[in-house]
Amino acid sequence: MSHDTLYEVHDPRFRSLIIENARLEQLHTGCRWAEGPVWFADANQLLFSDIPNQRMLRWEPDGGVSVFRAPSNFANGNTRDRQGRLVTCEHGTRCVTRTEPDGTITVLADSFAGKRLNSPNDVIVRSDGSVWFTDPTYGILSDYEGYKAEPEQGARNVYRLDPETGELTAVAGDFRQPNGLAFSPDESTLYIADSAASHDETAPRHIRAFDVVDGKTLENGRVFASIDKGIPDGMRVDTEGNVWSSAADGVHCFAPDGRLLGKILVPETVANLTFGGPRRNRLFITATTSLYALYVTATGAQRP
Ligand code: MG
Repeated sequence: MSHDTLYEVHDPRFRSLIIENARLEQLHTGCRWAEGPVWFADANQLLFSDIPNQRMLRWEPDGGVSVFRAPSNFANGNTRDRQGRLVTCEHGTRCVTRTEPDGTITVLADSFAGKRLNSPNDVIVRSDGSVWFTDPTYGILSDYEGYKAEPEQGARNVYRLDPETGELTAVAGDFRQPNGLAFSPDESTLYIADSAASHDETAPRHIRAFDVVDGKTLENGRVFASIDKGIPDGMRVDTEGNVWSSAADGVHCFAPDGRLLGKILVPETVANLTFGGPRRNRLFITATTSLYALYVTATGAQRP
């Protein structure tokens, strides 16, 4: 293994994914817990959440950072649907919302089996329009990043929302604290982080992989990779199927076979990341108080 102040190379293949002389840029700081980065190519801007500050922020290449939405209902993970609409997990309202083009907000899901969700954490949209999200209890543990409450659900599920019927289905129910999630480029595999070690040293700190069957159900769950520093939270997949995961010491990059290729070392604990910029080759990293960016050779997967 070799490393400098920015990279740890665990496998020679990592060198083809990074730019040796690129530098980590701190684009913004002053957040309490930065999360949920989502790139809007059409608007040339990045939206992200600052959960305890009750804000969503907007970063623009020339304009710096401004407030996009406040209060944000303790918004956490964000993504876009097939029509480009913003989809957001809210701890405060314990729901997943969609922001319409005119700015009105539609609740997509707030309950399952007649009981309130825990606190939706992160969300992705498949090419068929289905919305997949995780529902750990982080947002109801205290009044810091949501409103303290007892969970009503008997499990911390991963859900799929059907785009046609609006029906919510639990697709995985055996996670301690499901968190970030991402599809492989062909959407045949779904990666889901279990970050339960955040509150219990002996609990999982790994990413599991599942086969996606008929675009609707999950099978063959297995541990894909474990995080050796901190926990996995948000993650993204590049065009080659490599998995880029958040961790305490930065961003860990895993090959599709689960091998650790290398790390980008970030001075603050990383909660989430996304590929953005006009060429999708700029990694935007939300890390505790700051938003960082780094140009890489890899490009974010544009799913079918
Ligand atoms: Mg998360």
